[in-house]
Amino acid sequence: MSKKDYYEVLGVNKDASDEEIKKAYRKLAMKYHPDRNPDNPKAEEHFKEAKEAYETLSDGQKRAAYDQYGHSAFESGGMGGGNPFGAGAGAGGFDFGDIFGDIFGGARGGGGRTQAHRGSDLRYNLEITLEEAARGAQKQIRIPTMVECETCKGSGAKPGTSATTCQTCAGHGQVRMQQGFFSIQQTCPRCHGSGKQISSPCGSCHGAGRTKQHKTLEIKIPAGIDTGMRLRHSGHGEAGSNGAPSGDLYVEIHIRPHNVFQREGDDLHCEMPISFATAALGGEIEIPTLDGKASIKIPAETQSGKIFRLRGKGIKGMRTGTHGDLNCHVVVETPSNLTERQKELLREFESISQQDSARHSPRAQSFLDKVKAFFS
Ligand SMILES: [Zn+2]
Ligand SMILES: [Zn+2]
Repeated sequence: MSKKDYYEVLGVNKDASDEEIKKAYRKLAMKYHPDRNPDNPKAEEHFKEAKEAYETLSDGQKRAAYDQYGHSAFESGGMGGGNPFGAGAGAGGFDFGDIFGDIFGGARGGGGRTQAHRGSDLRYNLEITLEEAARGAQKQIRIPTMVECETCKGSGAKPGTSATTCQTCAGHGQVRMQQGFFSIQQTCPRCHGSGKQISSPCGSCHGAGRTKQHKTLEIKIPAGIDTGMRLRHSGHGEAGSNGAPSGDLYVEIHIRPHNVFQREGDDLHCEMPISFATAALGGEIEIPTLDGKASIKIPAETQSGKIFRLRGKGIKGMRTGTHGDLNCHVVVETPSNLTERQKELLREFESISQQDSARHSPRAQSFLDKVKAFFS
């Protein structure tokens, strides 16, 4: 059984507000409360799952850590010391063992896990540049993961020996206890749910069957990918226990802000400052595109805010296969640090313009007319 994504458990988006998370949790808690579902043994499991998800996502610090590291943040003692995700992750100094100790302990104690279960899924947040997103890229990432112990091949028993069936629970991992009228099922106190007993534990993994390692993976990033998209690498999550399959690795893409372009879907936007002389007289200016430089003809009397669209100069969509557009937004720049000579020319320019302002500044004129009508 793999651990489900907390956002999926609550049925909310990754960017859900605290309020939405709370609401989603309340709904699930009402629906699956064990008192309301005496005949549905699955309900309690759903209830616990939702509670655990809520406990993490409702706490800003835990949520941030979960967003960054996924469920691996929960492996006890796993993430402490250093930051295995390298520079850029930014969270340095967290001791995840401490932060999540209480939740993790709770989940282990009450989970009643038995025998083999699939490894946890891992999530890795990968930052890439806009250029890499547009063209596609090949990236190497290093991920911390629990892998099957090489010495004992995952059995947890010293080579040459083997694990025996737990005698307390006969291999079920659970024991029934009679308390008055009730019969309570509990995780076997002797084998802690594994159903096995290891008399001489493997020296490398101390009987766990798994060891913590880092592995390097090649990640192929398809052209056109966008922030929030996930690449699934099946079987590259954590190793399962007792021979169960590994979980999956989800690489979630985050595109770093670009200093020229803003992306919107497959379209790109950029700001294009032009002098007010160019705006008035027209001219040609050079602009950057993802494929290099291009030039735009600015017609005379261009106003601030006008958008020049360069068809097909956006990003080629990953799913659509068609190119978006590049939209250049004109910003007419007011000149600064003027010399006396420039000021003189502008004053002269202004005085000539005012002789027929309706003709030279139609927008200002219509504004003045509206103001006049407003006050009369
Ligand atoms: Zn071992
Ligand atoms: Zn047992």
